[in-house]
Amino acid sequence: MIKLEKVSKIYKSGEVETTALKEVDLLIKEGEIVVLLGPSGSGKSTMLNVCSGLDNPTSGKITIDEEVISSMNGKQLTKFRRNNLGFIFQQYNLLQTLSVRENVEVGREVSLDPFTVEEIIEQVGLTPNIDKYPYQLSGGEQQRVSIARAVVKKPKIMFCDEPTGALDEENAKEILSVIQKLNETFQTTVVLIT
Ligand code: ADP
Ligand code: MG
Repeated sequence: MIKLEKVSKIYKSGEVETTALKEVDLLIKEGEIVVLLGPSGSGKSTMLNVCSGLDNPTSGKITIDEEVISSMNGKQLTKFRRNNLGFIFQQYNLLQTLSVRENVEVGREVSLDPFTVEEIIEQVGLTPNIDKYPYQLSGGEQQRVSIARAVVKKPKIMFCDEPTGALDEENAKEILSVIQKLNETFQTTVVLIT
C-alpha cells in the first residue's frame, strides 16, 4: 500500500519557484496497476520520484507498507528502495558489455529473495535471446531486459516512468502487456506513467 497525505513538491531555482505537486492525497492498494496520465510538465515524474523515495517532498507524508519513507534519511531510503522497489525508465540503461543473462543477474545480486534469472527471462519472452548482447536486440527487447532486471529481485512495487517512450506502437503495446502480465502473475503493484 502506498499512501500520500498532503504531499507537495516545490522546486526552487534561484528566484523561481515551481509548484509541481500541491497537497496531493492518494491511496494505492497492493496489487493494483495505477496509470498516471497528464500533459508534459504536469508533475507526473515528480509524483513518481517522491512516491518512490528518489526525491524528497517539500511537505507531506508518504507511507509504503507502514513505513514512513518521507521521514527516512538517505541511507535508509537507499536500503528501502533496494529491498522493495523496482524501476523502469524510458532509457534502458543496460550494461553493453554484459549479455541478457548477465544484465538480469545484476538486478538479482542486490536482493534477499530473488526469482531465478531463467524464470524471469522466460516471463518477458527472452529465452531465445538469453546469451545475446544489448546491441543485438531491438528497442522493445532491450526494454524487456530492463524489466526483467527490475523484477528479478521480486520488488513489492514497480515504478515505470514512460517505459514505452522510445518505442514504436507495436513494441509499446508489447511492453505494456509484459508489465500487465507481471502484475497478474506476481501481484506486483505497478505505478506507471505513459
Ligand atoms: P512531467 O513528468 O509530467 O512531464 P515533471 O514532474 O517532470 O513533469 O515536472 C513538473 C514541473 O516541475 C515542470 O514545470 C518542470 O519544469 C518542473 N521541474 C521538474 N524538475 C525540476 C527541477 N529539478 N528543478 C526545477 N523545476 C523542475
Ligand atoms: Mg516526466
